[in-house]
Amino acid sequence: MLVAAKPVRRTNNSAAASKVALPPRVPIVAAAGDGIGPEIMAAVLRIIEAAGARLDVRSIEVGEKVYRNGVSSGIDPTAWTALRERRVLLKGPITTPQGGGYKSLNVTLRKTLGLYANVRPCVAYHPFVPTLHPGMDVVIVRENEEDLYAGIEHRQTDDVYQCLKLISRQGCERVVRYAFEFAQANGRRKVSCFTKDNIMKMTDGLFHKVFDQIAAQYPRIAAEHQIVDIGAARLATRPQDFDVIVLPNLYGDILSDVAAEMTGAVGLAGSANIGDHGALFEAIHGSAPDIAGRDLANPSGLLLAAVMMLHHIGQHEVAERAHRAWLNAIEDGVCTPDIAACSASAVGTRHFADAVIARLGKGGRNLELRSLVLPAPQPVLQPPLRPAAEKEIVGVDVFLHVRDGNAESIARRLRRLDLDGFSLLMITNRGVKVWPNGAAETFCVDHWRCRLMIGNGRDSTDHTAIVGVLGKLAAAGLDFIKVENLYTFDGEAGYSLGQGQ
Ligand code: NAD
Repeated sequence: MLVAAKPVRRTNNSAAASKVALPPRVPIVAAAGDGIGPEIMAAVLRIIEAAGARLDVRSIEVGEKVYRNGVSSGIDPTAWTALRERRVLLKGPITTPQGGGYKSLNVTLRKTLGLYANVRPCVAYHPFVPTLHPGMDVVIVRENEEDLYAGIEHRQTDDVYQCLKLISRQGCERVVRYAFEFAQANGRRKVSCFTKDNIMKMTDGLFHKVFDQIAAQYPRIAAEHQIVDIGAARLATRPQDFDVIVLPNLYGDILSDVAAEMTGAVGLAGSANIGDHGALFEAIHGSAPDIAGRDLANPSGLLLAAVMMLHHIGQHEVAERAHRAWLNAIEDGVCTPDIAACSASAVGTRHFADAVIARLGKGGRNLELRSLVLPAPQPVLQPPLRPAAEKEIVGVDVFLHVRDGNAESIARRLRRLDLDGFSLLMITNRGVKVWPNGAAETFCVDHWRCRLMIGNGRDSTDHTAIVGVLGKLAAAGLDFIKVENLYTFDGEAGYSLGQGQ
């Protein structure tokens, strides 16, 4: 649990004020970002300052302007220094420029600072914000660093591109443990896990396995796993069945936007990105270039992110004061044009902030304030849940680019070669077995995975032998575009069967 904040004493009496020792200002970094970012950042800083936040704000420039100055990452070294020193960032949305050469600053920030848990509360404000799901109160905890977002992509042949999906045991452990710690700290009853481990048995399978292992350490919290497709369908129709949901990166990214939109508007949700070396708070929406600079943007998502930031730095009373005033404004029907119920009486961003400030000291009459405790980052267990395994190479998957060929002709070419004890076990095309005994109907592209096993499948080999085999393939004019060693770990295959199951 975080330590309760000291109350902020405020007075107009300057003599009295000079005697009252105000708590020190907490250093943070603010980055307004692009599009509607500057408008919503100004509104939010005004609200939390009026609520009594004790902050020493250092502003940094990130995003479009920095990209345009030729910095492909969208952030310059002085901004990194400020982030490393202060470790708390309140960030507006950033436009990722289209086209090659630019990296997503959002992904860079999360990965460089190791912000592995992305906490996204999605709460309905019925009947003040129209929604089909009045009772919705779901917190999505998204893994933030791994999965397909590793950003490792290659073009391998004329027709085939690949993106690597990387999932680590430590990555799973940290985010899953964080989800359970979050549930425990906030009195939540259940943690659900969504994966697609019926198909991705190794990567998503690891996430699921770690979830089961960690769930067993929190017996008071219910735990369940669902395949992500049916889980997503149920979340979209019966959100009341869910409480905290933990997911790998891609599913979490998609489903948290779906969940936020279900509450009434994507502009309402804030998020916290938590890691060992810092924390980043932002709205979940983007830079909304279609409404930028027109005083139309809803600052609520960034405000609720700032409320989480205030809790994170221990200024709980200020956080609740701002949060309550916001609930009061929502109940009074104060809203920006993105809220469907608001079309006739909408106010602008600045007016919305004024209305929240005018309500400081008031609270929701019907809407309940659900405070949010952000647990400290969770260390990876030492020793790990499983000791290091004995690892042996038993074969190699060689991926060939063959333009004019078929499975039979490729198999014939490979089997004619002397491959130093390796023999061809099978050929697959996009994961479907096409040799031996392929089906005539299977559509094939120019990308062939050839599985070469050493001996009778019970022997092991080494890197030198694999290099020798690759040399023979190169000499035979075969274009190998990727090689994946086949390992066993304590005798258990560390590779999929590759039959397109
Ligand atoms: P978006 O979220 O910016 O906009 C989608 C729609 O929602 C638009 O119609 C927009 O007007 C509306 N909207 C979003 N936030 C709103 C708010 N606070 N108030 C009122 N209306 C709001 O999504 P997009 O158009 O797909 O993306 C625009 C840019 O933002 C892209 O460059 C994208 O890469 C970037 N982006 C950044 C972040 C981030 O910085 N964390 C997140 C998502 C997208």
